[in-house]
Amino acid sequence: MPTDRLWLNDGHMIPALGLGIWQVPAADTATTVALALRLGYRLVDGAAIYGNEAGLGDGLRDSGTPRDEVFVTTKVWNSDQGHDSTLRAVEASLQRLRMDRVDLCLIHWPAPAQGRYIDTWRALIRLRDEGKVRSIGVSNFMGAHLERLVGETGVVPVLNQIELNPRLQQAPLRALHDRMGIVTQSWTPLGQGRSFDAAPVQAVARRTGKSPAQVILRWHLELGLSVIPRSTRAAGLAENLDILDFALLPDEMAAMAGLDEGVRCGPDPMTVA
Ligand code: NAD
Repeated sequence: MPTDRLWLNDGHMIPALGLGIWQVPAADTATTVALALRLGYRLVDGAAIYGNEAGLGDGLRDSGTPRDEVFVTTKVWNSDQGHDSTLRAVEASLQRLRMDRVDLCLIHWPAPAQGRYIDTWRALIRLRDEGKVRSIGVSNFMGAHLERLVGETGVVPVLNQIELNPRLQQAPLRALHDRMGIVTQSWTPLGQGRSFDAAPVQAVARRTGKSPAQVILRWHLELGLSVIPRSTRAAGLAENLDILDFALLPDEMAAMAGLDEGVRCGPDPMTVA
């Protein structure tokens, strides 16, 4: 049975379910974040490149939710990779958020052609040691990047945020994460709605009275993943939160596994520069 929070390998915890704010317009972000927190969300997934960190911070304060109750993630963008540039980039994120620390900071993409993710990681280790970032992790890393990172620095990321949805189930990378003690967090978890009509999703929806989106989000939790769907509508935010009162049966999980096609919605992490 999935829990609503997951342990990280540094002793902290992360809510399993959160709000993603990619493509939420800067002007709407404070309203969306405040609404989500009032509905019960306790994790907000931001990034410098989303251009809405100020709104994230404002929304948290507007909601009246104590800062300590909310898990805030940001990410270092590709053009800021490198040791000193990462130190400066995280400082700038904290200023935009108007916070003295974030709960999690990720390297947004490995950008292997730049060859700077080890230096970037060393900067995040320093920021963690200074208390500006509580936990440190990565995003879009493939197995070879993870192994090199840990081989060269000895510090295992707490989490790898990767594209994961019913059409791209990432079983080998999930297995590596499990062996290394890394939480898997799913981005584009709804897969642009391309599996909403699939028979296994529809069958669970009929049995439980839940929507296809709810079935897919629950599937992520059943796999032991953290998941960060995005919605800006009150009804959508509430719908995506209302997934803790049902479960997928073992044969339903097996049928969902059959939807994997290894097809990405987003870019290939090897080529993003
Ligand atoms: P998502 O899978 O959350 O889907 C968002 C889309 O689905 C929106 O169009 C929304 O209106 C719609 N939707 C949301 N709830 C719905 C529901 N209940 N029923 C029907 N439609 C619904 O996709 P996403 O925003 O691409 O990914 C989620 C988050 O992941 C992002 O906001 C961001 O925080 C993160 N992300 C990270 C990376 C990365 O490189 N690390 C890349 C992409 C996204």
